[in-house]
Amino acid sequence: MAILPIVKYGDPILRRKVKLVTDFTNLDNLVKDMLDTMGNESGIGLAANQVGMDMNLLVLDISGFEDEDDVDPRVFVNIDIIKEEGEIEIEEGCLSIPDIRASIVRAETITIEYQDLKGNIKTEIFTGLAARVILHENDHLIGKYFTDYLPTSQKTVIQKRLKEISETGFPSVSVTLT
Ligand SMILES: [Zn+2]
Repeated sequence: MAILPIVKYGDPILRRKVKLVTDFTNLDNLVKDMLDTMGNESGIGLAANQVGMDMNLLVLDISGFEDEDDVDPRVFVNIDIIKEEGEIEIEEGCLSIPDIRASIVRAETITIEYQDLKGNIKTEIFTGLAARVILHENDHLIGKYFTDYLPTSQKTVIQKRLKEISETGFPSVSVTLT
């Protein structure tokens, strides 16, 4: 078990589109470490570039939410969102943007194509919290933050906090935007 350092807002690797995974032979240890790291921070999703890895891989664990169907941690490689349906507003946070939370509107139900840890291609539909986490983490893999969706007025409110995070890893005060 290893807890990996989490890359914070402002690091260039979080503003780039990551590379697709082509070598599936050595992913198990990384996935284990990512799940440990996420659990250690009480996170429910983590993208590989949030631990400094330039690869299209994300993990999801919403087992702490008893209303949800997905009780086991999940891993998605080379993920592609192929369909989005409906709209729902949910409050989001991010391990790379600590102590900042905001309500964001995204699709309620998504269809994704991805590869599993053996490289098998799969198609699956997710809704609710699982869909939300996948959309948030997939955004990391294409260089986007949830704060990018905020209106200018709210971006202005957190601008200074984001700068603090990029400089010290944490904001001097926490902010929740509703
Ligand atoms: Zn995030």
